[in-house]
Amino acid sequence: MNLLLIGPPNAGKGTQAQLLTEHFGIPHLSTGNLLRENIEQGTDLGKLAKSYVDSGQLVPDDLVINLVEKAIESIDLTKGVLFDGYPRNIAQAENLDALMAKHHSQLDTVILIKVKKSLLIERAIGRRVCTGCGATYHVKTHIPKVPGLCDLCGSPLVHRRDDAEEVVENRVKVYKEQTKPLVDYYKQTGRLLKVRGEGTKEKVFGDIISLLGNNA
Ligand code: AMP
Repeated sequence: MNLLLIGPPNAGKGTQAQLLTEHFGIPHLSTGNLLRENIEQGTDLGKLAKSYVDSGQLVPDDLVINLVEKAIESIDLTKGVLFDGYPRNIAQAENLDALMAKHHSQLDTVILIKVKKSLLIERAIGRRVCTGCGATYHVKTHIPKVPGLCDLCGSPLVHRRDDAEEVVENRVKVYKEQTKPLVDYYKQTGRLLKVRGEGTKEKVFGDIISLLGNNA
């Protein structure tokens, strides 16, 4: 099963990716996570990507495409894969189709998570992310047991720099201009499923599983 999650920033892609990869036992490829790791480790890619990520712009295609091509080499695609945050524009989508074909595979299903803008901003402002394992929390709706520390691995939680309100506004704008056209791209090939993402993570997950079941 090769899946792709698309949706605006803070639609819940990371949360659903975690649940789906556990449920299906498939690897998770998140370009956002890979870029943040590179930035934290101060790699050449991290240095090049930092200003784009901090301001909510897309990192240039050549850098991201190269990152994905390398990452995919270390994945056993026979198990399937879940892409999260990649592709983000038509050029990346075309590249991914070609890359999957090269590996004698293809994207089976694209899941679009739709959330109204006011909630995207509210989620971003309250979101806290674990610096160790990437698990996400929210200051009002998902509070950790020990303040400031991850329930799963005990590492400190941080507010992502690109979750600041003005940066999220920009990320939503970039999504509308560059990533939303992918909806039509995937609709044309009949690979698109749509789910509302305003409910609890369990509700959204249940909706995705039943949509996938109806499409099996
Ligand atoms: P995410 O965690 O998916 O929301 O990504 C965080 C940031 O990483 C984005 O705002 C972009 O700056 C960058 N990024 C992640 N994935 C991509 C991609 N496929 N293409 C370009 N930039 C990306």
